[in-house]
Amino acid sequence: MIRKRILTGDRPTGKLHLGHYVGSLANRAKLQDEYETYILIADVQALTDNFAHPEKVRENVREVLLDNLAVGIDPEKATFHIQSMIPETAELTVFFANLVTVSRLERNPTVKDEIAQRGFNKSLPLGFFMYPVSQAADIAVVRANLVPVGADQIPHVEQTREIVREFNRVYGGNIFPEPEALLGKVKRLAGTDGGAKMSKSLGNVIYLSDDAEEVKSKVMAMYTDPTRIHPNDPGHVEGNPVFEYHKAFNKNQAEVRDLEERYQKGKVGDVEVKERLALALNEFLDPIREKRCEYESKGPKYLDEILLEGTKKARQVTQETLKMVRSAMKIDYF
Ligand code: ATP
Ligand code: MG
Repeated sequence: MIRKRILTGDRPTGKLHLGHYVGSLANRAKLQDEYETYILIADVQALTDNFAHPEKVRENVREVLLDNLAVGIDPEKATFHIQSMIPETAELTVFFANLVTVSRLERNPTVKDEIAQRGFNKSLPLGFFMYPVSQAADIAVVRANLVPVGADQIPHVEQTREIVREFNRVYGGNIFPEPEALLGKVKRLAGTDGGAKMSKSLGNVIYLSDDAEEVKSKVMAMYTDPTRIHPNDPGHVEGNPVFEYHKAFNKNQAEVRDLEERYQKGKVGDVEVKERLALALNEFLDPIREKRCEYESKGPKYLDEILLEGTKKARQVTQETLKMVRSAMKIDYF
């Protein structure tokens, strides 16, 4: 039986955090048996806004792999591969660039936000501007059907669908399926600062690898309901990241409902709600930390082997894809 394929991945710009877990990692772990799973370490994309800091990108390649392994993704099942070591992706990016307009790329809301965040308004690197095209190639080059991602990636998957549709229309051959995005249990987890998205680049994160003390101190410093001045003021649960995390990670949902009710009535203080969140998060993170340690103790060679083997395996597919692409585009000369 031919299994459908998953392609998803992470930029090696830092360790992975709770947002990654609920947005994408949990679905990767859940679907790894059902789908042929490809997980990309997107170093080329990470360089588009970190081009002057290649050491940062390199440092985080193994960290991102470890975080994926720590949540239960099995390296025997999933194929981990490194973007810069798949030259077919770069080739396909060039061909795809003909099938998308500058004005279409300018309309991408995620890229717009990211440009503003990075202060790229005045001088926008072309590589950063067009990373969604390269990301379309990441997905298409393994002919993926499903892309488990957080909400910020929806415009990119939509862009990918448009590009492959256009490719199939212009060149025929029906090489590429139109991939679908699969959102996680929480589409966009808020930051500890109350910002719309927990993000490595914004520093408002709880890492999957934070120790119990770090988690506690980050939680105690979290943004809550700014309208609440005294513990007996009625508080707001909606839009309050402390409650959002409780709902997403606390195993004891009866406790969460009780806290919510008391919070709304002004019958519980922020300190208690946060203390309970720290406990719940640490309980959630304990097995992840344990697994991370196990894999880490196997040493860097073991991790590199996973990446090397995965990249080799992915290239069998990507080379096959490019062969079809060249033939469809009539550039298969010899
Ligand atoms: P960077 O700031 O460097 O872009 P990031 O924190 O956005 O880092 P990525 O590597 O870009 O992380 O994202 C990897 C995957 O995790 C994507 O599918 C993305 O949608 C998902 N993801 C990241 N942050 C969140 C979040 N806060 N909530 C839900 N999903 C998220
Ligand atoms: Mg991102």
